[in-house]
Amino acid sequence: MSYDVEKPDEEWRAELNPAEYAVLRQAATEPAFTGEYTDSKTKGVYSCRACGAELFTSTEKFESHCGWPSFFDPKDTDAVELIEDRAHGMVRTEVRCARCGSHLGHVFEGEGYATPTDQRYCINSISLRLTPDEG
Ligand SMILES: [Zn+2]
Repeated sequence: MSYDVEKPDEEWRAELNPAEYAVLRQAATEPAFTGEYTDSKTKGVYSCRACGAELFTSTEKFESHCGWPSFFDPKDTDAVELIEDRAHGMVRTEVRCARCGSHLGHVFEGEGYATPTDQRYCINSISLRLTPDEG
């Protein structure tokens, strides 16, 4: 697997704070209901906190009440990479940034949310950085 943005581990460690590093580069999960974007309704674009790639927008964000920012679709299909994740005795689909391979969260499907895709991209706030729309 190769990404457009690849850096040695020590560079990621230097650029990210320890909490960001743990989630983005070690696939940790931030505690539910603690992330800064969980309930955000600000209009704008959510970019990868590691590399700046645009990943999600407020247009696809919805209230899932699950404790993490939830989107029913990425900004562009190829902005994210989906990988089967068999950690913790479950089979889940991991969501990574397609440009730098950083961990973002997981995507779940068929949960019955009233969204156009019936998918929930459950994304750590700390993996994202929101750029509010101008005006
Ligand atoms: Zn990235």
